[in-house]
Amino acid sequence: MLTVDEAFLTLAAHVAPAPPRDVPLGELLGLQLAQDVASDCDSPPFDKSVVDGYAIALADASPELAVLEQVIAGSVPSRPLAPGGTIRVMTGAPIPAGADAVVKWEDCRELAPERIANPAAGVAAGHCILRRGTAFRRGDVLLAAGKRLTPLDLALMAEAGCASASAIPRPRVGVLPTGNELVAPGEPLGPGQIRNSNGPMLLASLAAAGCAAVDLGVARDDPESLRAAIERGLAECQVLLVSGGVSAGVMDLVPGMLAALGVREVFHKLRMKPGKPLWFGVKDAAARQYVFGLPGNPVSTLVAFRLFVSPTLATIAGAPFAPPARKPGALIKSMKHRGERPTFHPCRLAPADKGDLLQLEPLAWQGSADLATLARADCLGAFPAGDYELPAGSPVDAILL
Ligand code: AMP
Ligand code: MG
Repeated sequence: MLTVDEAFLTLAAHVAPAPPRDVPLGELLGLQLAQDVASDCDSPPFDKSVVDGYAIALADASPELAVLEQVIAGSVPSRPLAPGGTIRVMTGAPIPAGADAVVKWEDCRELAPERIANPAAGVAAGHCILRRGTAFRRGDVLLAAGKRLTPLDLALMAEAGCASASAIPRPRVGVLPTGNELVAPGEPLGPGQIRNSNGPMLLASLAAAGCAAVDLGVARDDPESLRAAIERGLAECQVLLVSGGVSAGVMDLVPGMLAALGVREVFHKLRMKPGKPLWFGVKDAAARQYVFGLPGNPVSTLVAFRLFVSPTLATIAGAPFAPPARKPGALIKSMKHRGERPTFHPCRLAPADKGDLLQLEPLAWQGSADLATLARADCLGAFPAGDYELPAGSPVDAILL
């Protein structure tokens, strides 16, 4: 049985980023850019007015100016400024040739329709004009390969004329809960039945991680149902998350079926609690196609997702493999530990009053099926194997949920 750290090393050795492909702008949010993005234009692309006002030539000493025309954003002046003339420009409109300042219209005095007093006194050259190329120049690299794209980056790409870019695509991840006992949340419980909570938990976790989640429905504990669902998952998805059916029971058919469908087992069972039955295999290393068999109990599923699936998905999306960060903390209550497996125990965080050290309150957790306690937790306390009691104040690492 591998230790948790050995499982991290094994995943790091087996999982690689997906190859980049061209992705339309509207689908790039959160993806890692695989090319530099350079602009196809200057920003702004022309000298433009930053106010609604009058474009003037400061050298023109005429006491009054005639309004020659009006230019709105998206139009261009049809003529240059002539002596004794001004052109009314709206915010975003190009500056007419011959003008070297714009005075906002509240600061101008209208003498008669289409005639204003010359507002040049005290106005500096370039006033209220945003010069072409002030922000960046055509050909400037605005975003470098490797950047994870934010909404602002997408806006910048739009401004720079970049309608698509090479990026590491969002992984498509299939979710397949298994079990004869599972019913949907909206259905009444018959004898021996429970609700399928892993399905919604995994689909939501994937959405939160920026993956394209595929709901493969529920497979029953019979070879035909399982085979059909796994085949569909492998055909449609880059990563397949099967939940349940991976421990040692008579109905734990998942490892055998995965092997029969060509998924090569890399590890099965880890020295940890919860999550011991975790299974990981590779279907197609070149296509970065991987399968996790997650233990059926919801807390085990979530812990396995947080510790192993999440970092794997981040790696496929372009980041180097990184196990979840362990943050130093201290217990605010004593804690008894039993057993020869390290435990990831749901804990709540109390307000920290001792610098950066997290303050962990171990919750009265009732084991792998106790989703309700996990839902109240902020983190997992990492407790080493052994039989011992830690007094309040003892150091313990935390993995944030
Ligand atoms: P298994 O790994 O299939 O043996 O399941 C272990 C335990 O987890 C059993 O008590 C199952 O009923 C429960 N379980 C399995 N799948 C789910 C699921 N999708 N949602 C909630 N509980 C589940
Ligand atoms: Mg089962």
